[in-house]
Amino acid sequence: MHEKTIRDRLVEYGEVLFRAPKHQIEFTKVADADALLNDLDGHPHAFVLACVMDRQIKAEKAWIIPHRISVKLGTFSIEDLCRLSRADVNNLMSQPEPLHRFVDSMSGLFYSAVQRISGQYEGDAARIWKGNPTSAEVVYRFLEFDGIGPKIGTMAANILARDFKIPLSDHFSIDISADTHVRRVFARLGLCSPDASVEQVVYKARALHPTFPGIMDLPSWEIGRNWCNARSPECDGCYMKDLCPTASRRN
Ligand code: SF4
Repeated sequence: MHEKTIRDRLVEYGEVLFRAPKHQIEFTKVADADALLNDLDGHPHAFVLACVMDRQIKAEKAWIIPHRISVKLGTFSIEDLCRLSRADVNNLMSQPEPLHRFVDSMSGLFYSAVQRISGQYEGDAARIWKGNPTSAEVVYRFLEFDGIGPKIGTMAANILARDFKIPLSDHFSIDISADTHVRRVFARLGLCSPDASVEQVVYKARALHPTFPGIMDLPSWEIGRNWCNARSPECDGCYMKDLCPTASRRN
């Protein structure tokens, strides 16, 4: 019963964020890089390629890579990207300084993603989410890109639905992205044990809100970032305080 009350509040805040008017998303805090990533009409592939780059380094560093390549290349049109060889991409990713911790493997993933967008989607990455598809279709299409796993695939679908306001026919397959903030907050709220695996947190969110588990993602992440610090949670500022078992034990 108490768990449902906690669920309801997370969902309520999630719905507020979901219904908020569309605004420029701050992916990197670099204006030109964010402008490119937000240009879903002109450069939808920039968003997809940033998702492909988002592994094993900080998200801001990964999401700025499309912009940094566009500066080096003087363009980020899909036609120009398609003309690049695997070696060209490797040069762009490695010279004069590496854009990613794993330049060789990430260059291969970047190259293969561009080829996939060209071959599968006729150069228009927006076809991944156009036409009111189901959430499962969108996540599946992201999973077809080499290097994208369920965490990034569902995160991409969540951003498209929540922030870019892309209409999908359902949200069943948009899971929570169980990063360290989300896992810590789920544990402290008593929704999962402190040593719960990523899969356990994902399935707990599905059990709590099957029609759209991922709606609890941003509220949980923001609580983790703003108040629920790893070392010392600042419960007095947190809007979950009156429901949170950890907060009541601390009083
Ligand atoms: S009330 Fe405190 S422990 Fe509970 S989620 Fe908020 S910050 Fe974390």
